[in-house]
Amino acid sequence: MSLRYCLSCKKICDKQTTLVSTQVFQCHTCRKPLVYFGREEGSISIESVLADYDALNPYNPIADFKGIIKDYENPQIDMGVIECEEILKHDPDNQESLRYLSKHYWAKGSVEKSLFYMDKINQINSVISEDMGYYINLLIIQKRYQAIITLLSKYQDSIAKFLGYHYYAISYLGLNQFKEALNYFYQAYHSCDDMKRKKKIKKMIRYLSAILDQPTQ
Ligand SMILES: [Zn+2]
Repeated sequence: MSLRYCLSCKKICDKQTTLVSTQVFQCHTCRKPLVYFGREEGSISIESVLADYDALNPYNPIADFKGIIKDYENPQIDMGVIECEEILKHDPDNQESLRYLSKHYWAKGSVEKSLFYMDKINQINSVISEDMGYYINLLIIQKRYQAIITLLSKYQDSIAKFLGYHYYAISYLGLNQFKEALNYFYQAYHSCDDMKRKKKIKKMIRYLSAILDQPTQ
């Protein structure tokens, strides 16, 4: 039997936790009708599904990216880098310098280096809420999904509901934990205002439903 979702309990219901009576599927716990979006048939790879889902850009990709380029791509940039490195020699936890270097290397296309500096900021326990989306994108690119989950649980109060669910879903998907991913995609769906994004989430839900419906070998 297909997995369905209970909106009020916020959980996936399986064979054991679904009540079926006269074609109606209800939650075992609260007796409310369950949500089901069907299944996406065909054998598609996780990679192609994720690419289509466009995990990095929950809102507006180009604008986000341009914002970073605009601020950090200027002729004085190397002076800034030298200055920051100098500051870090005496004050290795200097947040502003770490942030500056991270974004500088991002603009230069060096994901590893920019992630290195964001990791430092995170390690010194400074508040990174304003850089959350940026930091998480770097972690997604490097496939460090467990780190994203740890980060989200640490900062769950300072991230918008939809974004939190969205990133949890992506991370669990990346870790091949499909049921957890499905659970968070349902929550993302119900807290998303953007119609285009909702359509993509629905597709993910249908895709994961198809995977999870397959009999276990
Ligand atoms: Zn329920």
